[in-house]
Amino acid sequence: MFNTDCLHGGYRPENGEPRNIPIIQSTTFRYETSEDMGKLFDLEAEGYFYTRLQNPTNDMVAARICKLEGGTAAMLLSSGQAASFFSIFNIASAGDHIVSSSTIYGGTYNLFAVTMKRMGIEFTFIDPDCTEDELNAAFRPNTKAVFGETIANPALAVLDIEKFAKAAHSHGVPLIVDNTFATPWGCRPFEWGADIVTHSTTKYLDGHAAAVGGAIVDSGKFDWDKYADKYPGLTTPDDSYHGITYTKRFGQGGAYITKAVAQLMRDFGSTPAPMNSFLLGLGIETLPLRMERHCENAKKIAEYLKNHPKVSWIRYAGLEGDKYYELAKKYLPKGACGVVSFGVSGGRAAAEKFMAGLKLASIATHVADAKTCVLHPASATHRQMNDAELEAAGVSPDLIRLSVGLEDADDLIADLAQALENV
Ligand code: PLP
Repeated sequence: MFNTDCLHGGYRPENGEPRNIPIIQSTTFRYETSEDMGKLFDLEAEGYFYTRLQNPTNDMVAARICKLEGGTAAMLLSSGQAASFFSIFNIASAGDHIVSSSTIYGGTYNLFAVTMKRMGIEFTFIDPDCTEDELNAAFRPNTKAVFGETIANPALAVLDIEKFAKAAHSHGVPLIVDNTFATPWGCRPFEWGADIVTHSTTKYLDGHAAAVGGAIVDSGKFDWDKYADKYPGLTTPDDSYHGITYTKRFGQGGAYITKAVAQLMRDFGSTPAPMNSFLLGLGIETLPLRMERHCENAKKIAEYLKNHPKVSWIRYAGLEGDKYYELAKKYLPKGACGVVSFGVSGGRAAAEKFMAGLKLASIATHVADAKTCVLHPASATHRQMNDAELEAAGVSPDLIRLSVGLEDADDLIADLAQALENV
């Protein structure tokens, strides 16, 4: 069961072993013979040789997240950005195309629209509220994946995962869902047809703003061999690993993650420090308790803001009447996370004045933290976007993103009230 897996998933100590996930703070691992080590390099035997590729602490925490998402294999990375990049670069290269929801985190948008474009991978950004016809029209013969966020940061649009999965599968490509804001407590995208899940574990999974990190989980459901021509990296021999064919050697459930570890971790080295993975594993232990309180507090605050005369609009999918309320009821029945966005009457200047007046909530680029944080994205995370791009990403110039923490809701409401009074 979910709560139990948050505590015990991925690590079960044997007699006399440490109660907590041990921190294996070692770059290397010793072997008796070169032959033993050679087998590891050829992926013929399981084991560790160098932490850039794999480390036991990282793997135990990855296995915990894998269990929570209901996947077949998972890996940790040094950041959510690395997870987003690896998730796509593992199956796409120069000349390929990806369909992505337009309402995604600003850093992911930049990675896709600027950096990966420079690498020759093209993205079509599509409004997640589009019709099925519009969605289908975005595909090209060279499309290799579809990408979206369960709850978009900061637009808070809820992805219709089934609609996106149906379109992806009818074009023979996997759906990758960034499940950072929802967390597997709130939504398990694999149950709705997603094939791969990514996380910025920096957010709710860690939950205490202690460690930047990322994760990728494979559902094991996508049949790479059925579309072998599209995914030669998985379905034909890898010369850099002595001719291994990942789908043949590791099956449908293990091929994608093994390839990402063996090739991309080897070459890019986006490995988390074992200490950070330990902190992540610790954070996950209280995930269900924290998420319940985050959702409860956010709902109270959303209700307060909705009725405030100086608030021009509010977006919280857990609030009745919200544009995404019905989708949230379907995909996020336990709660729509702790992030609320709203506009302060008076536009950009009023928003900035409001922010400066807050005493308890901290101005921080962070979200999904035990402590309440607040941000004006148009002047921070999304400042690289022009007005049209901001609009496509669902970010208006007056948008305030409030990440409601675990404080007493009444204290938070008092802080908002005094800051709004001074606007
Ligand atoms: N995905 C989402 C939804 C995010 O909110 C973020 C960061 O805010 C990222 C990915 C990137 O994660 P990180 O900051 O851990 O690199």
